[in-house]
Amino acid sequence: MTKYIFVTGGVTSSLGKGIIAASLAKLLQGHGFKVTIQKFDPYINVDPGTLNPYEHGECYVTDDGAETDLDLGHYERFLNISTSQANNVTTGRIYQTVINKERAGEFLGKTVQVIPHITDEIKRRMLMLSEKGFDIIITELGGTVGDIESLPYLEALRQLRMELGEHHYCTVHLTLIPYLAAAKELKTKPTQHSVKELQESGVQPNILVCRTEKPISDDIRQKLALFCNLKKENVIEALDADTIYEVPLLMLKEKLDIRVLKELKLKSKGIPELKAWREFLKNLRHPIHEVTIGLIGKYNELPDAYKSIYESFIHSGAANQCKVNVKAIHSESLENPKSLKSELSGLDGLLVAPGFGERGIEGKIESIKFARENKIPFLGICLGMQCAVVEFARNVMHLKNAASTEVNPKTKNPVIHIMPDQLTVTKKGGTMRLGAYDCKLIKGSKAFQAYKKSQISERHRHRYEFNSKYLKEFNEHGMVASGINPAKNLVEIIELKNHPWFVGVQFHPELKSTVENPHPLFVNFVLHCIKNKKK
Ligand code: GLN
Repeated sequence: MTKYIFVTGGVTSSLGKGIIAASLAKLLQGHGFKVTIQKFDPYINVDPGTLNPYEHGECYVTDDGAETDLDLGHYERFLNISTSQANNVTTGRIYQTVINKERAGEFLGKTVQVIPHITDEIKRRMLMLSEKGFDIIITELGGTVGDIESLPYLEALRQLRMELGEHHYCTVHLTLIPYLAAAKELKTKPTQHSVKELQESGVQPNILVCRTEKPISDDIRQKLALFCNLKKENVIEALDADTIYEVPLLMLKEKLDIRVLKELKLKSKGIPELKAWREFLKNLRHPIHEVTIGLIGKYNELPDAYKSIYESFIHSGAANQCKVNVKAIHSESLENPKSLKSELSGLDGLLVAPGFGERGIEGKIESIKFARENKIPFLGICLGMQCAVVEFARNVMHLKNAASTEVNPKTKNPVIHIMPDQLTVTKKGGTMRLGAYDCKLIKGSKAFQAYKKSQISERHRHRYEFNSKYLKEFNEHGMVASGINPAKNLVEIIELKNHPWFVGVQFHPELKSTVENPHPLFVNFVLHCIKNKKK
């Protein structure tokens, strides 16, 4: 029978619940259990697909085409498993389901209420993944205990404790122990209040994980145990780490896995199997190369907007025993030729990021020209690939005003145009080309060399595509299509023949890179950046 762990957060947001949940899951996976993680977000949007990166950071896309919270990226990167639509649920989706049922007459004349109808739907979704045969399902609750919008979720937790029974249910509460420099003391009061708040909702945490800058003493553990109604050994310290990938080992040292297994009456393996993980950390900590890669986008003050790209560089850097410094460059700043030169010279590689809309597009195109002419390794992702096509059309093929119709709908040379099935789309939510699609690689291409196979599947999130009408002309000028979607004959990868490494992909390789499976395109890109630096 499946066991359930719930992770709640107290005191402030941004404590890293996603990382703690993923680290715990990693340890349990190392003990041989089949584990997954899901996230429940208390906002009203049906999914984060329509939220802009300032609001919500990156939108992570799953194989089955769900637009989800970026924490799902951490889950996949840590666990090396694929998540799905069912792994991310919002209040919006819960209400949508309940309201649709009400309109269909399924409540038979009853008044539809938060309790029991909304909480029933929350519980149904919390338990749903058990059908897939998981031993343990971890549910991360978004938001902070005390938020009004979190209340129905805590109520669902309270009910589930009764329904599932003691050893099938475990709540881990992540909290902050602030250090007051003036008093030279760690303070437990905010945590006491946060646990009290949880208890008022009828939820007693089993385990307390305490984020802290300084080690917590035995006295503090004792005090927290006393005030929060916990066993002392269930008070876990979570010291700040220099990389998120260290956190599973910190949690191992604190025996979080053992405490949880005990609460759930599950047998521990003693020491969890983490060989590949430790190997990765060793490479990460002892690089023999170092490169600097420019990341060109329009949200560069906001690293969360490109979360998966940054993480992919960490994985592929370690795979190459290379420290990858990522220099975030604002595409708008590249529209001035002087700053373009000063920003881009000295870089060992360039990545042009995905994105939407017109802002900063000309700067992206200029930076691609720079990479093409100076033979700097280049990776273009989604919009970055589309910009590479536009740059080549304008500057090599001399197609006047070549553009994507997303930016210039009236261009005479629409080298990137809207996909035919997008023409009739009027609703914005969940209507892009989303999720995994097959792609066939041309033997001998740079893409093929990277993947070392000809059949791949990658995740997408876009409405525009390469306009195949121009394909022959591109070919003749030296830009070739090296990856094609077999079902619809769409161009998914372009590359340059006369360039050491210039690849543009319509899909998002960054969404499939994990610690144990660094993405081949990123690995190959970093390898070429190292070669370029040596030159
Ligand atoms: N805006 C482009 C499109 O919709 C690219 C999207 C992206 O980069 N994810 O096709």
